[in-house]
Amino acid sequence: MASEPRDEDITLAGNLTLAEILAGGRAQPAMLNDGHCHFFSSRFFELLGAQMPGERNGTQTAAALCGRLGWDDPGSPDALADRWVAEMDRYGVGRSMLMASLPGDEGSVAAAVSRHPGRIVGGFMVNPVAPDGALRVRSALGSTGLRVVCLFPAMHRYSLADPKVAEVVGLVAATPGAVLFVHCGVLSVGVRRKLGLTSRFELRYGQPLDVQRYAVDHPSLPIIVPHFGAGFFREALMLAEACPNVVLDTSSTNGWVRYHPGLTLTDVYRTAMAVVGPDRLMFGTDSSFFPRGWQTPVYDSQRAILEQLGTEDGFRASIFGGTFNRLFP
Ligand SMILES: [Zn+2]
Repeated sequence: MASEPRDEDITLAGNLTLAEILAGGRAQPAMLNDGHCHFFSSRFFELLGAQMPGERNGTQTAAALCGRLGWDDPGSPDALADRWVAEMDRYGVGRSMLMASLPGDEGSVAAAVSRHPGRIVGGFMVNPVAPDGALRVRSALGSTGLRVVCLFPAMHRYSLADPKVAEVVGLVAATPGAVLFVHCGVLSVGVRRKLGLTSRFELRYGQPLDVQRYAVDHPSLPIIVPHFGAGFFREALMLAEACPNVVLDTSSTNGWVRYHPGLTLTDVYRTAMAVVGPDRLMFGTDSSFFPRGWQTPVYDSQRAILEQLGTEDGFRASIFGGTFNRLFP
């Protein structure tokens, strides 16, 4: 299609629009939700500590690692969940998606969701090609209240074409209310770098076009691609235009724009609004640890960009809250 289609026109034969899929309305009232945060629990730090060279499992406590990082000890999952909700209250954030950020930490976020079900949407990282990958997804989606299954193919170095990935995606698609998240593009994990952990990532595995098969096979399954594709912006747009069940999240500082000479986040927003539209853009910050807390600079800069672009109120309401509410009713 030569002209720029409006979002509601992006409806392929036989497919539903995202709005139809989610049975939601259009823009919600002004409400700020955060579609992308990390729940850095004590268990998360223990799992990281176990990856450190020369460390025997369990010798690195969360408190010790946080001491090295200059970060606050997260304490129990309940205490960390309370801290998150207090932080959200402070900045007027209604709900947030918080994800367990290593496989094996599902329990921490499940505890947070059960403590604040109206405020926290739970996600968890899984390695679908690990021997226990599918089992973990089945049990986490079964009864814990977790609903976002997060794949990081570059981190765990697997092809999205692997049949084990298809099995896991099938489990997610078969679970009412569950959502798939696929991290594509550049991946850097600051906490690993700070601790001197080697990251054997292979970025070639995080290709948005490889997500298309799942979006097409499961047209009712919402799929989030974060950070506008994190360097694969063009491919993320191609994917989202082809697949009405794909949502792009806007989270983090989007430093990947450096790879595109002259590109600014304002250009990214302008193009994404034209191709994808506000109903499939979801604001997020990528906040993770305390005392830094919720990343207001990310919100302030994206808010300013949308104001500069003269985006109408309803569209901003979608990006900052409505898309989240439709994904996570
Ligand atoms: Zn993130």
